[in-house]
Amino acid sequence: MKFLCVVHIMGTMDENTIYRETVIEVKLDRIAYNVEQIRAMVGKDVKIAAVVKANGYGHGAVGIAPTIMEHGGDLLCVATLSEAIELKRAYPQYPVLIMGLTADEYLPYVLQYGILQTVDSLRQAKVLNELAEQAGTTAGIHIKYDTGFHRIGFPDREESLREIEEISKMAGLRIEGIFSHLVLLDDESNLKQYRAFTDAIEKLRARGIELPCCHLADSIASVDYPEYRMDMIRAGAIIYGLKGFHKGTLDIRQALTFKTRINHITEIRAGEGVSYDFMWRAEKDTRIGTLPFGYADGFPRNLRGKALVTIRGKRVPIVGVLCMDQCMVDLGEVPEAELGDEVIIYGDGKEGTLDIQEVSQLAETNKNDIVSRLTARPPRIYTEDGKIVAVKTMLGETGRY
Ligand SMILES: *Cc1c(COP(=O)(O)O)cnc(C)c1O
Repeated sequence: MKFLCVVHIMGTMDENTIYRETVIEVKLDRIAYNVEQIRAMVGKDVKIAAVVKANGYGHGAVGIAPTIMEHGGDLLCVATLSEAIELKRAYPQYPVLIMGLTADEYLPYVLQYGILQTVDSLRQAKVLNELAEQAGTTAGIHIKYDTGFHRIGFPDREESLREIEEISKMAGLRIEGIFSHLVLLDDESNLKQYRAFTDAIEKLRARGIELPCCHLADSIASVDYPEYRMDMIRAGAIIYGLKGFHKGTLDIRQALTFKTRINHITEIRAGEGVSYDFMWRAEKDTRIGTLPFGYADGFPRNLRGKALVTIRGKRVPIVGVLCMDQCMVDLGEVPEAELGDEVIIYGDGKEGTLDIQEVSQLAETNKNDIVSRLTARPPRIYTEDGKIVAVKTMLGETGRY
């Protein structure tokens, strides 16, 4: 990808203005590295479907897609139609699969944009087939097969095989793949699901049905259970450098940094409180720093009393109730802190910062939850080797550098 070379001057009202000091930096070189590591892990015969749902797990799907596809990605996966359309408008050349179901009334858009659609019923296959025939085209589909997760998918029984056979004969549909999803309870339950899936595939093939791409493994499964990689893996978390696996190894690096600056400092006396309901009071005289981010940026509000951010290499506590757009830190242990100091909210674990793994533990949730809840409000700053190459604010793409 070529980037326009524009000198960025903070504060100017040109199309490259970031408008805000609370930003999410996405290191594209790390995304590229992770995809290359995944490619090295799976080899050249297994396809990599990069899962970029939920705005690319908060990183910005449109901002990261070219890096993924240029470094070894084969397919982009999303959950919903609007996520697919956003990607197709930006990159009509990249194949995009919607892994969820799309309501009948929106299927014309699937055809219009050439999106691959997951299908798990004969009823809906008929609807999509009819639309495709009317439009004089064909729709690429992946069949979802339920091997026990019980979310979506054809139920695992003989009747489903007959229905899938009927779908395979529809002139308006091309079956490009079939997939299932693991519960990841334990080795035994995984094997049971895998066997149910491969058994169904064998029976379908015996009926003469072509199934070019069979896939089962998500990030954890593709690292911990190489035997379940099949024709393609669906890699989400590991693309972003988030490690959930525990058996296998894969050298990946967290790509996201969430950061801001101190924009106000005030001195308070022992006994004085901070924020709504004075849920926190100073034990001794101290300085309070105000940070211009809040729960409306996607930071978990229930981290009150537990959240730490890093200023000048030191961890400082967020004190009092988090507000929607601002929060306060106790600067008592960092006397050298000044107005304008950089604050790392989510770092990569180096230089005292909390990485997403640590934040997710504090918030008693998983890493995907922490990143996917980041809202559109903080600008995404895309960097390569420390240099800004693109920016996306909530006003749209504000330029490539
Ligand atoms: C989200 C999702 C994935 C990716 O999950 P990770 O754990 O992030 O790798 C894979 N497959 C399906 C069906 C999904 O919904």
